[in-house]
Amino acid sequence: MNYPIISLFSFLLSVQFAFSDVTSFDWKPSFNDEPVPQERLEAIEAALPDIALAVPDSPRKILIFSATAGFRHASIATGKVALDRMGIKTGAYQTLISDDPENFEVDVLKTFDTVVLLSPTLDFFMPPNKLREDFSDAQWNWLHARHERLIANLVQFVHAGGGLVGIHAATDSCYEDEDYGNMIGGYFWGHPWSWRHNVTVLIEDSEHALIKPVFGDMSDFRIQEEIYQFKEEPYSREKLRVLLSLDVERSDEPMAKVPLRRTCGDYAISWVQSVGEGRVFYTNLGHNHHIYTDPLLLKHFLAGIQFATGDIEADTSPSASLEK
Ligand SMILES: [Zn+2]
Repeated sequence: MNYPIISLFSFLLSVQFAFSDVTSFDWKPSFNDEPVPQERLEAIEAALPDIALAVPDSPRKILIFSATAGFRHASIATGKVALDRMGIKTGAYQTLISDDPENFEVDVLKTFDTVVLLSPTLDFFMPPNKLREDFSDAQWNWLHARHERLIANLVQFVHAGGGLVGIHAATDSCYEDEDYGNMIGGYFWGHPWSWRHNVTVLIEDSEHALIKPVFGDMSDFRIQEEIYQFKEEPYSREKLRVLLSLDVERSDEPMAKVPLRRTCGDYAISWVQSVGEGRVFYTNLGHNHHIYTDPLLLKHFLAGIQFATGDIEADTSPSASLEK
């Protein structure tokens, strides 16, 4: 009859061990990115816009976060410099560049106007799965619980009126979290066009407040860039205002190994949406380094950031509603 008591005792003991195991545990993502070469720093500097697209209502603080639990883009370092310098030069915002998960704790998060997710991948507050063996079960469970909690904090931050900018692989992230998927607007489904491909980008919404000040009367442009296709869900023109999309006919042939799977033929590139009281801008552009040394595309990022901070008002009515 004393078996259940022993069992309870050993259970409590194991809980205590698990608890002490994780309380002394403080893992943070860290990365050794290649420094940006001088020549590219100069190219960034030459491409930066001179002035903001709108005068900020108050000093804006943005967090640039780019932790990766999967593929890590070499262009992250370039993007960090470009976005940071653009804020300083135009006066549109100040940046904190950090991969510290601590910034996603509620009290810290609310000190930012906007969070920029610069090509993070997979469950970005977690270590890569290939390092799973380096952690005990208790540690891994603790990390996973923290990841879910911090993503929920981010979703809540946006719903409550915060801004979110997703760049490139921000849609190759958090596949298990439906709220994240709905907030960012789509999930990566392979890239039929690789970084070598030359593609034509259609400017869909030429009168839109984020498009007109950047692209003027242009109807399209050519770029060498990796282009994603998005899973059937949650991407939808019933929810998103699509600003840029791919002209498949006037782009290089997609790679045979990544077949086009979207039956509607819709390959959106940049969009905005309202999420609760908050504002979300996402763009697929940002794989290649030269995206961040292109004056037009830096301005496109600036428009997205200033929309997210609330300094540019823009229509977020879903694209599908305009066609009805
Ligand atoms: Zn990429």
